[in-house]
Amino acid sequence: MPATSAVTVVGSINYDILVNCPTLPGAGETVGGGSVSYAWGGKGANQAVAAAVMAPNHIAMLAAVGDDALGQSALKNLEQSYVDATLVRELDGHATGQAFVMIGDSGENQIVVCPGANATFDAAHIPARLDCRVVSLCAEVGDAALVAAVAACGDAQVVYNVAPPRPVPAAILAARPILIVNEHEAVSLTNCKNISDALATLRTLSDNDVVVTLGAIGVMYSAEGDVWRQASASVRVVDTTGAGDAFCGAFVAAIADGESIHNAVRHGVALGALACTRLGARTDWVKRADVLQLADSLESPQNGH
Ligand code: ADP
Repeated sequence: MPATSAVTVVGSINYDILVNCPTLPGAGETVGGGSVSYAWGGKGANQAVAAAVMAPNHIAMLAAVGDDALGQSALKNLEQSYVDATLVRELDGHATGQAFVMIGDSGENQIVVCPGANATFDAAHIPARLDCRVVSLCAEVGDAALVAAVAACGDAQVVYNVAPPRPVPAAILAARPILIVNEHEAVSLTNCKNISDALATLRTLSDNDVVVTLGAIGVMYSAEGDVWRQASASVRVVDTTGAGDAFCGAFVAAIADGESIHNAVRHGVALGALACTRLGARTDWVKRADVLQLADSLESPQNGH
């Protein structure tokens, strides 16, 4: 790992326990017939792994795990995905974050997230100085850690995926972050009824480019004083979990590489689409060349409202 990483991702690390069952239990009820599978998750770690698809060994993760066996596995998993995990803190007496996801036969789900170390991660765990070109934030950890990371990153470009949505602290806005949200987050953050208005409101708030992802439709973004629409790539969809994280990872890697916002969006759209072609939120199986090829094949973005 070079002393300066292209991107430092500040966010969450979770282990997801997925239970498929014919019917979900009601309160006090026990149901049988389930099957269990396991997957690495956490929006921050998903995004770091996606960024490392595009820039292996140039992405660092700043996060917290517990002092448990799961935490050790999480670190190993990140390193195997070409993410530098040396800044990940192992917090004594804490559990690594876990999400329990029950999925019924008709796709309905019940989810309990136990944030563990993610919830304790704060300013005290952030180094005084972060050497990177982009610091990429996601909101599954507290504001104190995010604000401290912004203070430590000097002139690095801040990119903030405000997910789950909550008010953006003034200290982060002062850094003129590029904001990335999906359509639900855009509406929730702004109380606007339509995406165009939400985009304009967020643009004013951040005083920088804003990206709103629109699932299978693609992306609407504000840049160069204009509004742009980038259509998504057409793929055979298996599971859309983590599409937004894949988008963010490829986007921040491109920005760190000096690409234009238009190219960064295209890289994000391409990796977001490829993420939908397999089960799970991680994209470490994707080849960088396939992302670039798919990005090159996309229609050009259209501008105007
Ligand atoms: P999130 O996962 O945060 O809700 P989105 O669902 O908007 O985010 O997905 C992020 C990006 O991934 C989209 O802008 C799009 O480019 C791509 N994507 C998502 N769903 C699909 C799909 N069904 N087909 C192709 N691309 C998709």
